[in-house]
Amino acid sequence: MSSNVLKYGIMGGTFDPIHIGHLVLAEEVRTKLGLDKVIFIPSGNPPHKNFKNVSAANHRYYMTLLATVSNPYFEVSPIEIERTGKAYTVDTIKLLREKYKDEVELYFITGADAILDLPNWKNPEELLELCKFVAATRPGFNFTKMEEGIKNIEEKHNKKIYTIFAPALKISSTDIRNRIKANCSVKYLLSESVEHYIYKNNLYI
Ligand code: ATP
Ligand code: MG
Repeated sequence: MSSNVLKYGIMGGTFDPIHIGHLVLAEEVRTKLGLDKVIFIPSGNPPHKNFKNVSAANHRYYMTLLATVSNPYFEVSPIEIERTGKAYTVDTIKLLREKYKDEVELYFITGADAILDLPNWKNPEELLELCKFVAATRPGFNFTKMEEGIKNIEEKHNKKIYTIFAPALKISSTDIRNRIKANCSVKYLLSESVEHYIYKNNLYI
């Protein structure tokens, strides 16, 4: 590929809600790999999660917009939330590949837990052909286990997976939802605008 090929990061997630762990990870990968931008893609109907327990897609989309608006290198795509039925990552990446053709290289960004789950996703083989994968450390997830999981994927599919050491933020959407339910503060764990959005819309109570 020629040197004027653009590099886009793809940050997939349920983002229920989006928190600073997601933002720091995306920014770290963007700067370390020299990405031209990062596209956040909130999942529609997540195949791997019990859909009934996930907030409406429009709420997750708006919160993702609010959290990313101040970063000129961040974008949000409604590509998955607009799809009906189960939205698999491989189908999303196929659509993006068709859109960008050879002009853009795609880097799918994951945390340690997500990369270890990759073999259980739909068509991992095809997915690894369509985009590069970046795996980041995440507190609470064993690094040696992550390395082993990555090695297995690399050997099985003969592909390289990029490893990134992200600043350790032991934050999860699950913990934030539990805190709100328990009436505990979530200040500084997520963007202030997202915090206000959650309270205004009575989410997670
Ligand atoms: P939940 O608790 O609902 O599963 P989550 O905090 O894990 O939420 P997701 O939307 O499931 O957030 O994650 C999207 C992506 O971001 C995944 O690849 C996940 O590994 C990564 N990620 C989330 N939080 C962090 C964090 N604190 N550090 C590094 N990676 C993270
Ligand atoms: Mg998760």
